[in-house]
Amino acid sequence: MTTETIPAPLTADDMAFTYYGVHFDPIGEEGTPLLAPGRIGPRRMIAAANRYMREDVGECRGLDSYRRHARWLDEVQHGYAVRVIVCDDARLADHSADCGACAELTRPHGWYVRWNAEATDPGAFPVTLLHV
Ligand SMILES: [Zn+2]
Repeated sequence: MTTETIPAPLTADDMAFTYYGVHFDPIGEEGTPLLAPGRIGPRRMIAAANRYMREDVGECRGLDSYRRHARWLDEVQHGYAVRVIVCDDARLADHSADCGACAELTRPHGWYVRWNAEATDPGAFPVTLLHV
């Protein structure tokens, strides 16, 4: 592959959950963040995450039943993410043009991101993160 496509940012339509107008998705295993495209104020992000924990995860005490935190508002971070649209083997000369792993990364709602990107990275878009 000689040309590198700059991945399009994720939008609200790519997110599985919406509470209080915040579109977000949990992006990994325990200890990794909820991600919302754009800059969400800490109070709104906490409110959305609390409701998600109660209604979708089934934790009656919301965020605090998962991990007690004195200052949840301080846990909301504004950063940058880059959508990953090619597999790790994409740089190899014998990488197939119809690679199944790459296809998985670009199917609708099959997105994957590098969530600790820099603002200057190609394809970087602002995100709000909450580590729960
Ligand atoms: Zn591939």
